[in-house]
Amino acid sequence: MKFSQTFIPTLREVPGDAVIVSHRLMLRAALLRRLANGLFAYLPLGLRSFRKVEQIIREEMDAAGALEFKPPVVVPGEIWKESGRWETMGEGMLRFKNRLNADFVISPTAEEAFTAILRDEISSYRQLPLTGYQINTKYRDEIRPRYGVMRGREFTMKDAYSYHANEESLEKTYQDMGRAYRRIFKRCGLTVIPVRADTGAMGGTGSEEFMVESEIGDNTLILCKTCDYAANVEKAACKDDFERRSIDEAKAAAENIPSIKKIDTPSVKTIDELCRFLKTGAKQFIKTLIYRAENVELDLTGAPGASTLERKSPAPDAPKMYPEAFFAVLIRGDLDVNEVKLAAAVKASEVSLASDEDVIRLTGAPVGFAGPVGLTSLPIIADYSVTSINDGVTGALEKDTHYEHAAFGRDFEPFMLTDVRTVKAGDTCIHCGAALYEKKGNELGHIFKLGYKYTASMNFTYLDEEGKSHKPAMGCYGIGVDRTLASIIEEHHDDDGIVWPMTTAPFHVVVIAIKYDGAVKAAADKLVSELETLGVEVLLDDRDERPGVKFKDADLIGIPLRVVVGEKNLPKVEVKRRIEKENRLVEISAAADELSRIVKEELAALNS
Ligand code: ATP
Ligand code: MG
Repeated sequence: MKFSQTFIPTLREVPGDAVIVSHRLMLRAALLRRLANGLFAYLPLGLRSFRKVEQIIREEMDAAGALEFKPPVVVPGEIWKESGRWETMGEGMLRFKNRLNADFVISPTAEEAFTAILRDEISSYRQLPLTGYQINTKYRDEIRPRYGVMRGREFTMKDAYSYHANEESLEKTYQDMGRAYRRIFKRCGLTVIPVRADTGAMGGTGSEEFMVESEIGDNTLILCKTCDYAANVEKAACKDDFERRSIDEAKAAAENIPSIKKIDTPSVKTIDELCRFLKTGAKQFIKTLIYRAENVELDLTGAPGASTLERKSPAPDAPKMYPEAFFAVLIRGDLDVNEVKLAAAVKASEVSLASDEDVIRLTGAPVGFAGPVGLTSLPIIADYSVTSINDGVTGALEKDTHYEHAAFGRDFEPFMLTDVRTVKAGDTCIHCGAALYEKKGNELGHIFKLGYKYTASMNFTYLDEEGKSHKPAMGCYGIGVDRTLASIIEEHHDDDGIVWPMTTAPFHVVVIAIKYDGAVKAAADKLVSELETLGVEVLLDDRDERPGVKFKDADLIGIPLRVVVGEKNLPKVEVKRRIEKENRLVEISAAADELSRIVKEELAALNS
């Protein structure tokens, strides 16, 4: 391919709105252009690398026995109503009506689409297991698209869905997919941190996220200094630094504690101020936060304040839920509530701090004075850390007042006792007891044992050997193609530009003709044709530009091998790897063989 005949409008300047390296380099190296916020066009050079990432993913999916499908990107709203997610997906799902006023969705994910397609085809256990996948456009109306294609609105995802006659079969495919993912990332030259969700508080749910370390990562990873514990902070657990007590144990422990007493705490607002005012530590404080939760599947029958809540099913076969419910969440004063753990505990699609008005309405006091003692308007969810507080301070449901000598079990009881603690650097590893530390990470892929959620709500059944009807167990497995591509650049670049791993480089070799004319032109053309015959992908820089410009562009674009053909050195040419500083002279007659050998070796090393 000749530079002059393709379209590689490289940029010298760093585009102002691009803050991360991969975004800057994708623009500067002419891989990508922005059309609108979160909407990007790949240019020809970028598309070559994009297709290579896609192809690596495809090969590994095929090798794992998954079958490629091509469902539409536009799917009927009807199937989302069946699963119940028409109600719960929120604003991120782009919906529209066609001319017949029917509801449609631009696929943000495709559990519904695959389930709807396959339930009509599969009727017998003999047809299971089956894993289908697509590499296809997704749209999510992200609130803040950023960092280029790392978080776009339109992007490409490989998403796979598997269906099984039993959970052992699901487990096997889940493991196969995990292995395929490790191979995909290795082939792309990426260092990933696999993060299991089942190592933490969620207990064996079966999901694994594949993270890359990144300063701008949206995820905080909790890692152990000593063992291989790695968890997303959303699910991370740590060893208790307190004594976890049952209600009876807590009552017994509070026996010699003075009775609860109301105290005036005028114009004391924060926990810090209160600690100074009362001369106690934050660990003595029972922090009480009021949360609003949406689509709560937890059964609240008999819970304080729940009798008036509306409860309904979003679809005939879907579980019943409360569209809105409020909770008082208790945690030790020095700790923070983890909203993802909280949402999981109350089985909500979304949780957020309640508005000031809701706090006043539910607690009868302004924000800052909520507490569990005498709270009858809403269910209490207590973190385990609260169980060891038997002489604590907490809000008294009145402006400018608190209780002291509050004791768990004696003065209040929770509706639910659970782990909603946010684990931090310095906490103790649940496996080995060593200190934990934090890293920022970006999620590239996710594998997940879904179980029966979609096959049940969407009524997918098959008959077993005895003719009995069952629902298949299901798994899902996603990788962002664009985000993977950008992450390769994040990991492989230097001050001059991209340093592509051979497997995803847009070309293997760039041949720079110092002046594309006469003997140099003839030599360069011959070398390119020999390389192409050997299966090497070559970009020939035939432009009428100064050598310095061509060298700078070659470094920016990051092609792994560079050959310079100039009059001065013929019949020798300069060969240099992008990762190396020094070049060396090679006889042009031997150059094609040598370059082709290097290309094959590097491909083999990554693909092995
Ligand atoms: P995130 O937490 O980053 O929003 P997610 O949990 O919503 O990710 P999944 O629904 O598991 O992501 O989607 C699978 C993969 O799709 C992700 O691991 C990521 O690589 C990719 N992906 C998700 N959202 C985007 C986006 N807005 N832009 C680019 N890639 C995305
Ligand atoms: Mg998301």
